[in-house]
Amino acid sequence: MATLSTLQQADIQHFIHPFTDSKTLGEKGTRIIERAEGVYLWDIEGRKLLDGMAGLWCVNVGYGRQSIVDAVSKQMQQLPYYNSFFQCTHPPAIELAKTIAELAPAHMNCVFFTGSGSESNDTNLRMVRRYWDLKGQPTKKTIISRDNAYHGSTVAGASLGGMSGMHKQGDLPIPGIVHIAQPYWYGEGGDLTPEAFGLQAAQALEAKILELGEENVAAFIAEPFQGAGGVIIPPSTYWPEIKRILAKYDVLLILDEVISGFGRTGCWFAAEYFDLKPDLISIAKGMTSGYVPMGGVIIADRIAEVIKNQCGEFTHGYTYSGHPVAAAAALENIRIIVQEKLVEKVATETAPYFQSRLQQLAEHPLVGEVRGIGLVAAIELVKDKSLRQRFNSDIGVGTWCRDLCIEHGLVMRSVGDTMIISPPLTISLAQVDELIEKAIKALNDTYAKCM
Ligand code: PLP
Repeated sequence: MATLSTLQQADIQHFIHPFTDSKTLGEKGTRIIERAEGVYLWDIEGRKLLDGMAGLWCVNVGYGRQSIVDAVSKQMQQLPYYNSFFQCTHPPAIELAKTIAELAPAHMNCVFFTGSGSESNDTNLRMVRRYWDLKGQPTKKTIISRDNAYHGSTVAGASLGGMSGMHKQGDLPIPGIVHIAQPYWYGEGGDLTPEAFGLQAAQALEAKILELGEENVAAFIAEPFQGAGGVIIPPSTYWPEIKRILAKYDVLLILDEVISGFGRTGCWFAAEYFDLKPDLISIAKGMTSGYVPMGGVIIADRIAEVIKNQCGEFTHGYTYSGHPVAAAAALENIRIIVQEKLVEKVATETAPYFQSRLQQLAEHPLVGEVRGIGLVAAIELVKDKSLRQRFNSDIGVGTWCRDLCIEHGLVMRSVGDTMIISPPLTISLAQVDELIEKAIKALNDTYAKCM
């Protein structure tokens, strides 16, 4: 049997990890996760961890769901693979498209399947440009996104995203994608009220459309709240103003719900939570709860009619678009969410409790702000609360806190000095208490280390 050190050695020698500095991997060693059940993970040394991140924001129904294993296994035996190109399809993909159409906002009734969130956003880029060509407005090509957005790691996904660190590697963004400021009041709002700042951030979209010319702007892409950017929840004035601007200039809305979809906000989709009417919704993650990879784009009727009736062949697709095994996992995952009323439970029970308990952390001397909606939240670690003053980024206070969380048996992610929590939707109230207690211990230890 492989030992911890032989596995770690092989890992360092042969495995280039995503979003990882391979050099520090060699210095620190990797944490090897071996099994999981419910909201808990166990590493290879037997340490039990409460997974406050649902993997990477994806394990909505929790780990160890035998019925998903059974559905996948049955589908593998019956039809492990077939494609949906060239006038073929198969029952699981058809059933899944119909199921998602029923859950999606009423004006959205079609789905294009992909293998991931990144592929979904690549699909969006091609689909909106094709749409405007077919509508006789071929100059409408530019997509406006936001600084510090995350839309994936493929060339189009990373270009659509606004992460400067990603743009520096690979000469991105590609042409035809521009970025405006993000609605991050705590970090960038200065002396403005959140409401005034929200309006100002939204009006940056109007200014950019006017600068480019509305005849050149295809779409605005945004996460309803920025996830990987640090759970940045726009002020209440932001989305209503964005809606007004998009309608005025006939610019499409691509809503990236890769994190927010499938219940995280206490609605099936955050479009409902923020009262938005998107033209395209990117989905992945919670679609299968991460049991197998799958993504997709939910398409508004206005777009779908044009693609269906005027496009001819839409020359886009992935070998694994609508993969039958992934579709079987997604169907069973959705069945669980419906049967266990997880979306309603988040809205009425778990999220209100989680958010109210989290607010207690705002009293902590290290915590500048706690913000969240549904079952997602951020805790900003600061040097001086009253001034919203941050620590020098070289110190890595967020990384200290993340590592101390692990010592107390909790997985939280750090984005700079912002701690992120996004647990499985199945977390119980007692487990929320456990999460908060562990977080307090980690915050205390981090504080002691900072002082
Ligand atoms: N969009 C958002 C909002 C995401 O958070 C992510 C991943 O974290 C993606 C897209 C990319 O998804 P994937 O990693 O499945 O390609």
